Amino acid sequence: IEASGAPIPSPDGKSQWALFVIHDMTNQRKLERVRRDFVANASHELRTPLSIIKGYIETLVDGHQTMELADRDKFLRTIQRHSERLKSIIDDLLALSRLESATPGLKFAPLSLNSYFGELADEYRNRPQAADHTVTVNVPASIGLIEADGEKLAHVFGNLIENAFKYTPRGATIELGAAATDDNSVECWVRDDGPGIPAADLPHIFERFYRVEKGRSRETGGTGLGLSIVKHIVQLHGGSVWAESGEGGGLAIRLRLPRRQKA
Ligand code: ADP
Repeated sequence: IEASGAPIPSPDGKSQWALFVIHDMTNQRKLERVRRDFVANASHELRTPLSIIKGYIETLVDGHQTMELADRDKFLRTIQRHSERLKSIIDDLLALSRLESATPGLKFAPLSLNSYFGELADEYRNRPQAADHTVTVNVPASIGLIEADGEKLAHVFGNLIENAFKYTPRGATIELGAAATDDNSVECWVRDDGPGIPAADLPHIFERFYRVEKGRSRETGGTGLGLSIVKHIVQLHGGSVWAESGEGGGLAIRLRLPRRQKA
C-alpha cells in the first residue's frame, strides 16, 4: 500500500482538511511481475533455438570443406528446424500482442455452428497428423447461429485440435462438440482420450509458456503460447475457456461463447 497526503483548506476557509490518497499496489506489482516474467521467458525461448543455430553455423563455417556430405546435410536440417521454431515463436508472440492491442480487429458475423463444425472436422480429418486418429462431431442440428469472428475461432479450434493430435498417442478419438445453454450462450468443446493433464496443472495451461512436460512439448514443436492465444480470442468474444479432465482420461477444453456480441 502506498499513501500520500496533502493539506487542503476547508470550504469555509477557517480550518485545514487533509486529503489522503491510498493506492493498493498489489495489483500493479503483480502486473509488473507478470510482465517481467514474460520478457524473461520470451527471451529464453527465443535464445534457445538461436544458440543452437549459431553453434551449428559456426561448426559449418569452420569445417564445411572437410565435412562428410551427410553430416553437412544433417547440420543444415537442424538449422532449418530451429529456424522454423524461432519463426513459430515470433509469429505467436506477434499474434498475442495484436490480440492485446487496443484494436485487435475482430470481424463479427453470423456463424452457423453446425456447418462450421462440420467443415472444421472435415478439414482436420484430411490432415496428415489425423491419419492415426478419429475426429467425431457432436453438435445438435438445432444449435443455430452465433455472432463471431469465424477466422479467429478457426484459430482457436485449430489450435485445440492440433494439441489433441500432438499430445495423444495413435488411435485417439477427438470429439468436437457444442450445446446450447439456457443463458443464450453456447458451450463448445474439444475432447480427446489421450494422456490428459494432472489436475494441478489444469488451471495453469492457459498461461504463456506454461508446459506440462517441458521436454515433450518442445520436442513436438509447441511454443507454449497456443492456449494463451486461445484464451485471448475467447475473451474478445465475451466468452470464457477452461480445461477439464475428460471422462475416462484425456483432456477436454471447454469454451462458453455468448450468441450475440455486446457492441
Ligand atoms: P504448446 O505450444 O506447448 O502445445 P499450448 O499453450 O498449446 O502450448 O499448451 C500448453 C501445454 O498444455 C502443452 O505444452 C501441453 O503440455 C499441455 N496440453 C495442451 N493440450 C493438451 C492435450 N490435448 N493433451 C495433453 N496435454 C495437453
